[in-house]
Amino acid sequence: MVSLADLPLRDDLRGLVPYGAPQRPVRVALNVNENTHPIPEAVAYDIVTSLASAALSANRYPDREFTELREGLAAYLGDGLTREQLWAANGSNEVLQQLLLAFGGPGRSALGFEPSYSMYPLLSRSTGTAWVGGTRDDNFELSSATVVRQIAEHSPDIVFLCAPNNPTGTALSLDTIRDVYDATNGIVIVDEAYFEFTPQETLSAVTLLPGRERLVVSRSMSKAFAFAGARVGYLAADPAVIDALRLVRLPYHLSAFTQAAANAALRHSTELLSVVGDIVEQRDRIIDELPELGYAPLPSATNFVLFGGVAQPHAVFEELLERDILIRDVGIPAHLRVTAGTPQETTEFLSALSEISAR
Ligand code: PMP
Repeated sequence: MVSLADLPLRDDLRGLVPYGAPQRPVRVALNVNENTHPIPEAVAYDIVTSLASAALSANRYPDREFTELREGLAAYLGDGLTREQLWAANGSNEVLQQLLLAFGGPGRSALGFEPSYSMYPLLSRSTGTAWVGGTRDDNFELSSATVVRQIAEHSPDIVFLCAPNNPTGTALSLDTIRDVYDATNGIVIVDEAYFEFTPQETLSAVTLLPGRERLVVSRSMSKAFAFAGARVGYLAADPAVIDALRLVRLPYHLSAFTQAAANAALRHSTELLSVVGDIVEQRDRIIDELPELGYAPLPSATNFVLFGGVAQPHAVFEELLERDILIRDVGIPAHLRVTAGTPQETTEFLSALSEISAR
C-alpha cells in the first residue's frame, strides 16, 4: 500500500496530523460546538426557495464580490460598518486561511496562546507560516502582560486571539486586545466565532476597528446561527485588508448556492438566533451541575464547557460513547469538553455522566 512517505510531499508537511474531530453517527452529538437546534422548517423552505432561484442562473459564475451578502453581514454587525469592511468565505476556517496566505507565508510567523483552536497551527503550517505556540496564565486566562511579553519575545507577523477561547471558553477583555494591537506591528486576528454566546453587555472587537488598520475580527455562521453545514464565515476589517484578501482568494470562491443560502439565513437571523438564550441556559446548567458530580468546570462565555477533575478522560469519553453520546477529548490532561445542547441532550449527558461517575 502506498503511504504519504512514498509521495514527493512538501517537506514541511511531513509528520503533520490533519484536523480530525471524530465524526460518528450518534444520537447525542456534543463534540464540535454546533448549535444542536435544527433550522426551523419555515426558514429551511425560504432557503430552498432562494437556492432554487440561484439554480436557475447557475450557468453563470456567481457575484465574485458577494455584494448582497457583505451588505447583509455589515447590517447584522451594525456599529456603522459598511460592505467595504466585510469579507466572507467557506467557513471562518477559510477566512483564517486567506489571512495567513496574505499576511503569513515563508519567513513569517504566527503566534497563538495554547490551548486554543487547533486549526491555527495547522493553517499556519500549511501556508508555510512558522507557528509559535505561546502560553496562557492560570486557569487559561490571558492578561495583557502575558501576551505583550510573548510578542516582544517572538516578534510575530500575525497574532491570533480567540475571544472567547476554544476549547477553554475563556473570555478576553477589549483592553487586552487594545494592548496587543499596540504591542505589535503585525496583523491581530480576533476570532469571535462564539461571540453571540457572550454576556449581553459584551462589546465586540469590531468596536475597536476605527483607526486600527491591522485589526481583523473574524466571525462564523457555524455556531449561534446554526449554519455549520452551509460553511459560511466572515470578517470585518479595514477595506485595505480586504484588498489584500482579493489577492489570495480563488476566483468565485463563494458559490451562488452558498451566497443564496447565507442571504436567506441572514434574513431570518432573529429566528435562528432565538435559541441562543436557551443554549446559554444549558451551558450554565452544566457549569452548575458538574461540581455535584465531582468535576471542575471552567467559566465559559461560549456554547461549550471545558471541565477538569476527570481522572481518566479517555475512559469517560468512551463510556459516554457507549451510551451514544459524543463529547470531545481535546488533549488537555484530566479535562473534557462538552457542547451545550438542547435541554433534552444536556439532561442525557448529565445523567449519563452521573451514572459513570457513581461507579
Ligand atoms: N474559530 C473557532 C474558535 C472555532 O472553534 C471554529 C470551529 N470549531 C472555527 C473558527 C471555524 O469554524 P467555521 O469554519 O465552521 O466557521
